Amino acid sequence: MSDTVRPFAPSSGYVGRFAPSPTGVLHAGSLVAALASYLDARVYRGTWLVRIEDVDEGRAVPGAAERILAQLAWLGMHPDGEVVWQSRRKHLYRAASERLGRHVYGCGCNRREIADSRLGVAPDGAAIYPGTCRDGLAPGRSARSLRLRVPEPGADAIAFVDRFAGPVTQHLARESGDFVLLRADGFWAYQLAVVVDDADQGVTDVVRGADLLDSTPRQIWLQTLLGVPTPRYLHVPVVRNADGEKLSKQTGAPAVPTTGGAADAVAALAQAAGFLGLGDIRAGSLAAFWQAAVPAWASLLAARPGAALPG
Ligand code: GLU
Repeated sequence: MSDTVRPFAPSSGYVGRFAPSPTGVLHAGSLVAALASYLDARVYRGTWLVRIEDVDEGRAVPGAAERILAQLAWLGMHPDGEVVWQSRRKHLYRAASERLGRHVYGCGCNRREIADSRLGVAPDGAAIYPGTCRDGLAPGRSARSLRLRVPEPGADAIAFVDRFAGPVTQHLARESGDFVLLRADGFWAYQLAVVVDDADQGVTDVVRGADLLDSTPRQIWLQTLLGVPTPRYLHVPVVRNADGEKLSKQTGAPAVPTTGGAADAVAALAQAAGFLGLGDIRAGSLAAFWQAAVPAWASLLAARPGAALPG
């Protein structure tokens, strides 16, 4: 198909991405994040990329990444570039960690020692690091992980304006503490990998679930230290089950099918679109769904006070 007949051919500098962790296949919750990032890229005539976030190789489920790619194709969401896999990009994470130089230090603490310090937990549930190894390892201890220094407690908060959630500020010293870049199990941490990859892929707009809102200030701090641009962010609400838990494979969310007629694909998309507040989209084909959903997303953004539109 030539570019002139592709209905959503990229023609702007916008670069967005969907970055699933292959810990399971797409379900109604992850489909919402995929749909929002895809629609945003289409509204801004941008490029939409897919990145498989299998940096935590211990949690990656064999075959899940391929299933996710098949599910996206079945739904009519085709990436505008090559799919990249974090497990094949570890050299980039190592190079970035080395570039961070004196901002990084070896930490000998284990989980229990950090929990026992009773500094409390970060918004994402991780224990706040008390800084035990900041000034060097105690005699007889060896480094288990690498941590990044965050700004001193008196420093300005990290602040950004989320395109959906509005202004966000976080004092990393109080709300996260020095965070892990290289984990004790030898895998690079999500926070580092995501920043390196977004920068390397030229991502201008991150659209993802609100469960990652609290991670964004750590990512902005890393971008600052690495001297790479900070993308715009838009965090959409996460889908929860009747018990208020985020839908996930662990909470038993059923997979979006990969087979079935177009009506099933449209139904799955329409449900996700309804959750995003795009109304009740009734479409007889995938093409008709996308023709209705893209302007609906544009209207939704226009109606949100402070919803900064990419230029
Ligand atoms: N890999 C993350 C997830 O599946 C998303 C990361 C991101 O979009 O920054 O939850």
